[in-house]
Parts: sequence; structure tokens; C-alpha cells
Amino acid sequence: MRFGAHVSIANHLYDAVDRAASIGCDAMQIFPGNPRGWHSSYFDLADLDEFRRRRELADIRPLVIHLPYLVNLGAPTNRVFEASIAATKDSLAKAVLVDADFLVVHVGSHVGAGREYGLQRINAGLKEVLTSDFGRAKLLLENTAGAGFTLGSRLEEIAEIVNDLDKDPRLGICLDTCHAYAAGYDLSDPATLDDFIKKLDDLIGLDRIGVIHANDCRGTLGDHLDRHEQIGHGAIGRDGFRAILKRPEFQEMTFIIETPRPEAGDDIRNLEVLRSLAGIAESPT
Ligand SMILES: [Zn+2]
Ligand SMILES: [Zn+2]
Repeated sequence: MRFGAHVSIANHLYDAVDRAASIGCDAMQIFPGNPRGWHSSYFDLADLDEFRRRRELADIRPLVIHLPYLVNLGAPTNRVFEASIAATKDSLAKAVLVDADFLVVHVGSHVGAGREYGLQRINAGLKEVLTSDFGRAKLLLENTAGAGFTLGSRLEEIAEIVNDLDKDPRLGICLDTCHAYAAGYDLSDPATLDDFIKKLDDLIGLDRIGVIHANDCRGTLGDHLDRHEQIGHGAIGRDGFRAILKRPEFQEMTFIIETPRPEAGDDIRNLEVLRSLAGIAESPT
């Protein structure tokens, strides 16, 4: 079981490794550039060797790259659709360059054009992306909270996408606990959690889960609001996370936090809480 956080790549790429290590990460997630823009910055080639060296030394793995938020492979307008494919391919090339394990993309939104249309777009977009060199990376589709016209909040929908791409082995999923709860899956309840995991295994296969985004949820069950909360302080709660972390299916899994940081030390605390709920560390003071 490994735990990590989303860290900044500001300044030098290798600084991200030091940031991750300093807060107690075994794994890390980064953006390939500005998370709110289209154009990801170029990783400085001169930094790559040092990045690799520090990552090996700190034993930080897996390495996850999260695509910028503007990317929408379900977009009806050609401009956004094409830019999304280009950004995904660009990030994938970077993932190969830095030897990342996973590239995470939100499933996308049909923006009012209808579910079927959106799923067709996503299928066409992913098909195009799958013509690229993946190296050893996998593309993980992240389940969404299902706000507005967002697709991929239901497990059935993600399964449909994967099945329509002939179950390509390079495709996996990133399971976000907050998004699942907001989408209506009550992960705070052990019986529902059990059903959810069985369903996930039946429809998609547990072996496709690359990472779990461990976020508590500030909203209510099924409200479709994507609002992350500190671990233990939201609707999933400490008992909910304890049950998730104790699941036998997840004992080899990587959990990455994307929790709010109103105060310095929040990441450190959330990682400590997760480890203590998993029973592999003392509970934080
Ligand atoms: Zn997430
Ligand atoms: Zn979210």
C-alpha cells in the first residue's frame, strides 16, 4: 500500500520529488504544466536525469501525471475536441519522457450535446490518443462527480468506454472516492462499498484501477458536487476511509490525496491519517 499527494513542479521538475518526500509521500502526482491552461510547459531536458535520480533515491512510485482541467474529449466543438486530443497526446509524450506510470484524464462532458454524442466523441478521441507511443504508461479514466453534462460518474459509463475500445490494456481507471460519493455511491457504508467494489470488478475489473484518489467529500450523497474535503472531515468520514483502506482488494493499491490545503501541514496530516486508518502508522497527534 502506497500513499502520495499532488505536488507542484514549480521551478525545477526535480523539486517536485523533494516536495513529495518532505511531506512523507511514497507516490506522487503532478500536472504537466499550468493546470488551468492548454499549453503545458516543456519539461527541461536538463532536469530529467536529476529527476530520475532523486525519484529513485526517495523511492517515489508510481508517478502519476494529471491532465489539465480544460481537456474534454467529449466536447462537441471541434476546437476544444482537437485541443483536448493534442493536450492528451502531449502529456502522454511527457509521461513517456519522465517514465511516468499513469496519465489521468477526467472522462469529459458532452456540454449539452447528449450522452450518446459525448460517448462517441470520447471514443473517437481516445482512439486517436491510442495511436501514440505509451511506453509503459497507462491512461486512467477518472470517475467524475457527474455535475452538469459530465460523463463518467457511473461505473457503467466508464465500462462502456473501455469496452468500446476493445478493452485496450493501456486503459485503466483512477477511482476518486469523493467523486464516487458525490455521484451517489455511498462509500461510507460498508455494505454499499462492498457492492460498489463487486460492481467495479464485474464491469471494469479491479486490475484496471491504477490509483485511487483519496479525497473526503464536502457535499452530500448524490449531489454531484466536486468538492474535496480533508480525510475524515467529510461525508465519507474516518470510518468510511478505514473500511476502504482495510479492503483486501486494495492492499497493494496507491492512494493519492487531492485534499484542500487551507493550512500548512494539511498534506502531511492527511497522509498520516490515511496511514493510521490503514493500520500501518500511529494515529497522528
Ligand atoms: Zn481526483
Ligand atoms: Zn474532484
